[in-house]
Amino acid sequence: MKITLLPGDGIGPEIVDAAIAVLNATAKKFGFDVTYDKQLLGGCAIDATGVPMPEATVVSAKAADAVLLGAVGGPKWDNVAPEVRPEKGLLGIRKALGLYCNLRPMVVSKFTAYLSPLKTEIAEGADLLIVRELTGGIYFGEHNEAHLNAQGIEEASDVELYTRPEIERIAKFAFEVARKRRGKVTSVDKSNVLGTSRMWRKIVSEMQSKNYPDIELTNLYVDNCAMQLVLNPRQFDVILTNNMFGDILSDEASTIAGSIGLLPSASLGDGTGLYEPIHGSAPDIAGQGIANPLATILSVAMMLRYSFDLIDPANAIEAAIICVMDQGYRTSDLYKEGLTKVSTSEMGCLIAQELLI
Ligand code: NAD
Repeated sequence: MKITLLPGDGIGPEIVDAAIAVLNATAKKFGFDVTYDKQLLGGCAIDATGVPMPEATVVSAKAADAVLLGAVGGPKWDNVAPEVRPEKGLLGIRKALGLYCNLRPMVVSKFTAYLSPLKTEIAEGADLLIVRELTGGIYFGEHNEAHLNAQGIEEASDVELYTRPEIERIAKFAFEVARKRRGKVTSVDKSNVLGTSRMWRKIVSEMQSKNYPDIELTNLYVDNCAMQLVLNPRQFDVILTNNMFGDILSDEASTIAGSIGLLPSASLGDGTGLYEPIHGSAPDIAGQGIANPLATILSVAMMLRYSFDLIDPANAIEAAIICVMDQGYRTSDLYKEGLTKVSTSEMGCLIAQELLI
């Protein structure tokens, strides 16, 4: 297993170290070998090489089986030229790896339900996965910036374009992953208004009746989905949607979990997959050893599941996290009276130890 590590900036190196401790323990328990190649991305890469994504990083990532990323950016680089901003590294690496499928799971366990902005009885037990198309749609269509039209009125437009193969490959992923979960797909669109959405709904429905009759498919308009997420998040298993709706709905869903430090993600293409927590580099707490590493550790579990099909090791990491939480250990962001506060590295060690029991 060849993993490229991109710890990045701020809390990135701390949370990635904790995740490596857990991955090493998992490898020991299940008898597989991992080799790491640490590379630069983001602000640290700008400092060392002048660019946010050095060529060596791309070469390493493309040659790896998977990439684990911490986070990039911070105030130090807020005023650098737009073309060398740390975020350029993030977008650049996603593009270089051709990642078209973004996965954002959101689980509300009994240990964290009290942190949710929703009532505990509504949030607790929610367990959903958003499958978002990542390289098509309006974000990548033609952008006509603001200009004066023939009548002298200022106008701008952005084009939403999807092709059948783009929709088929992301829908296939959602159906297949639903088979390994609870067998439900909610496809989200705006087919009452948009032509792309009508084609999306037609193709997804055709695929379900032809190839996935065992999967329960529900179609929802995006506005209704946004409401249903806060009214009853437990109704969802897999949510399949396009680039822009996925961007918005995944951020909405993430707030339900209560702490941004709990949420992992995966971005997949036809080759190397990229795994990263959904949060940023948290410069306000960097270097203090108090960041929550669980989102990164859960990203490692996703890596084992989606890039290596190592289901038992992935499940073992998630079970070890539950055991450690059950014993009352929490990082600062999840802490409340009566529990034991631990540092970033202690949390990583506790989960690693739990795996090796
Ligand atoms: P952020 O996610 O870094 O932080 C938001 C808040 O959540 C902060 O209060 C932070 O302390 C807290 N937080 C984040 N992760 C945490 C963790 N693991 N444990 C405990 N608390 C945590 O977002 P921001 O402050 O808007 O951005 C900071 C920098 O990160 C910016 O430079 C931004 O561009 C960058 N950023 C990077 C990514 C990425 O690398 N994928 C994503 C978002 C933001």
